[in-house]
Amino acid sequence: MKYKRILLKLSGEALMGENQYGIDPKRLAEYAEEIRKIHEQGIEIAIVIGGGNIFRGVAGASEGMDRVQGDYMGMLATVINGMALQGALESIGLLTRLQTALKIEAVAEPYIKRRAVRHLEKGRIVIFGAGTGNPYFTTDTAAVLRGIEVNADVILKGTRVDGVYTADPEKDSSATKFDLITFSEVLKKGLNVMDTTAFTLSQENKLPIVVFDMNKQGNLLKVCKGETIGTTVY
Ligand code: UDP
Repeated sequence: MKYKRILLKLSGEALMGENQYGIDPKRLAEYAEEIRKIHEQGIEIAIVIGGGNIFRGVAGASEGMDRVQGDYMGMLATVINGMALQGALESIGLLTRLQTALKIEAVAEPYIKRRAVRHLEKGRIVIFGAGTGNPYFTTDTAAVLRGIEVNADVILKGTRVDGVYTADPEKDSSATKFDLITFSEVLKKGLNVMDTTAFTLSQENKLPIVVFDMNKQGNLLKVCKGETIGTTVY
């Protein structure tokens, strides 16, 4: 395996499956199965999950809600997704821990870096909920932050697109995909990989990002094996 410890970032929207909102149990089970395949290979797995399938602070703010209030609601949405993913993983026999940046101790441990690392060393899958615990941030930033903190080898950003393109492939048919690209090239070309805060944090700490299509069965395992899947930003 190319990586020993990974930080997998899953967007909340991906959990909707074919639905317009919420969590699709079928999609959740598929993701759990993909994760099981890499766990079987001895890879240590930390996961950050988004909340966009339930609530986004900016969306609330655009309809007159207080942004900070909305962002805390978004963070709670990530905890709901984290609990759902935890349930799906445990139902197929995997050991997990959910740690949250906001304390919700009846359902999750508070985030404690040393404890998270210990869980990973013991082969437990650690899900980080509630993002960074701060409004005005995203779960991409939380993913990079936690990835750096627990010394992950890479951020695996599992999305619906299969990598980083020269232009939006849905709008420009001549767009081509990068297999490999440097952080500075991404900035120079004005490409969109993650929001600026997350991207800069990753670049400054030399933590590579692989953007890949999580909905294609077997892709996560292939990425972990080092096959040329998606786009690696380094
Ligand atoms: N959020 C936040 N701080 C964080 C992470 C998330 O305030 O550190 C809020 C924010 O409102 C965001 C929502 O939680 O819109 C859901 O997260 P995100 O949009 O990153 O989820 P994704 O797009 O991955 O589904």
